[in-house]
Amino acid sequence: MAHAYVQPRLIAPLLLAFIALSAAAQAGEAISVDVDLRDSARQLFHGHEVIPVKPGALTLYYPKWVPGEHSPSGPLENLAGLKIMASGKQLPWRRDLREMWAIHLDVPQGVSNLDLSFDFLSPDSGGEFGQSVSATPDIADLEWNQVLLYPAGAASKDLSFQPSVRLPADWHFATALETVSTSGGVTHFKPVTLENLVDSPLIAGAHFRRLDIGPDDKVPVHLNLVADTDEDLDISPAQVQGMKNLVKQAYALFGSHHYGHYDFLLTLSDNTGHFGLEHHQSSDDRSFADLYIMPETSLVGSHLLPHEYVHSWNGKFRRPAGLATPDFNSVPMEGDLLWVYEGLTEYFGNVLTARSGSISADQYRQLLAIDAATMDHRPGRSWRPLQDTNDEAQILYYAPRQWANWRRVQDFYTEGELIWLDVDTKLRELSGGKKSMDDFAHAFYGMDDGSYVVHPYTFEELVATLNRVQPFDWAAFLRERLDSTREGAPLDGITRGGYQLSYSETPSEYFKATEKVRKNQNCMFSVGLQVDMSEHRRGEIQDVLWESPAFKAGVGPGMKLVAVNGRAYDADKQVLTDAITEAKTTKSPIKLLVREQDTFMTFDVDYHGGLKYPVLTRSAGKTDYLDAIIAAH
Ligand SMILES: [Zn+2]
Repeated sequence: MAHAYVQPRLIAPLLLAFIALSAAAQAGEAISVDVDLRDSARQLFHGHEVIPVKPGALTLYYPKWVPGEHSPSGPLENLAGLKIMASGKQLPWRRDLREMWAIHLDVPQGVSNLDLSFDFLSPDSGGEFGQSVSATPDIADLEWNQVLLYPAGAASKDLSFQPSVRLPADWHFATALETVSTSGGVTHFKPVTLENLVDSPLIAGAHFRRLDIGPDDKVPVHLNLVADTDEDLDISPAQVQGMKNLVKQAYALFGSHHYGHYDFLLTLSDNTGHFGLEHHQSSDDRSFADLYIMPETSLVGSHLLPHEYVHSWNGKFRRPAGLATPDFNSVPMEGDLLWVYEGLTEYFGNVLTARSGSISADQYRQLLAIDAATMDHRPGRSWRPLQDTNDEAQILYYAPRQWANWRRVQDFYTEGELIWLDVDTKLRELSGGKKSMDDFAHAFYGMDDGSYVVHPYTFEELVATLNRVQPFDWAAFLRERLDSTREGAPLDGITRGGYQLSYSETPSEYFKATEKVRKNQNCMFSVGLQVDMSEHRRGEIQDVLWESPAFKAGVGPGMKLVAVNGRAYDADKQVLTDAITEAKTTKSPIKLLVREQDTFMTFDVDYHGGLKYPVLTRSAGKTDYLDAIIAAH
């Protein structure tokens, strides 16, 4: 926490003055916030707040830095209709000229409460995370930071809120908030701090299921589902068992839990955005409508919930000091340790998906092969070290998708996973198989069982804990992987784990499922391009690998692939894979006809290496650490 406060040079001096002034306005009473979701079918969330105040200057913040999004992504543009009333009169306010998420006003003498009304214009298309679609005629996903303002000057752990929600008739809801009463369609929740309220989203809908997946009654764990239809709620007994196993395996891994109760809040819809947002006592998980119905979707979507669940320990309870800010506005977040926050979560999340039996050992290795190959085809590493993808994360989350391999984007997830596999296998090797990342997990997250008071950490503390598990020059080991601009991904974890990353002419089950679910054709590892196969953008080239044969021929993302060797691509995507295979036995280039805006162009792609899909192959005679890593405990 202390670290987070020591950044005054980043804040406008004017704003600091306002914070000091408005601190005096902060009263100890709870702020009430009431949200009406009955209009959510047209993406309107109506908000009402009563804020206790004292007369004088006051600054109100709309949350800007959203925890878990690591970005100044609070959707300010969607706040409308704000009226601030005091004693029946509308008060004037003015926005801060440097800090758009802050407004200033004067509270008249004799006024002890402000009455705020406003509308949140929930997005109806596009966007990332909380800026994506959050409501359908049958579903509403509520993030409290989108429907409140709060007085500047107090830490979010010191501001008390009294929340309530009004739902459409016959809807059900789930949240980590604890209910006090429900009457007349309004549910009142127990008062919580602002920190906990923003940490406790709510999902609601007409089609709802709640399943008990906790190992005991003392610490309840539930899987809550909302969907557009009842059919999409049809989770199988084996899938439920996988979730029960996940909870047990997480307890075995960490030796602790950091919540009083936990609720997975899972939205199953093709009409909302798809993402996961972690919280201490819940996770806001939004995935495909057919997540539990189509085997390919189940496979590709299997690691979302484990990832978000791991965040309760790694990211929420233990948090990088630069992300543990005192409120949602006054101090910017720093992303330099996201390779731990997200990268280690990706590693543990995938390991737990396998340990819980939701994917097989073979499927785990297939996933790891795809992750490793993707990072091994990141020529952008020649100019941007992995560390910089962390440092610029708040911008890169919103970067366009094209040239991702040259730009480098949120690589700290996938490359972070490879680095932590590297650490895990190194621990096992150095200790003769006695120590592993499980020991680190106990040491780093196992304290204060049941508590969800944030413990911030630094790089130095992380290294010190690794050294306590197994002495080694971990600082140099990690910095080399974070700071270098060398060629190729860090694949030592795979080789030390007893495998080699190699390429097959036949795609793995996981690779095929990913192409089907993501609706694309991925030839990045052969000719060096990926094509969109979705209904509305069929044939559009999503990305081209820098310096690949397709790149050298002149192909770029955004062009539309019309024909391959004179055969229409539209009719059958097989024409591309057939052409790549045929080119193995000839010296002729693969001829691509593409359309760029109103111009047709032909490119000769000089490639004869055949189809290439990533797989892991076993190295004879080496210890199989990968199997040991994913063995259930
Ligand atoms: Zn994450």
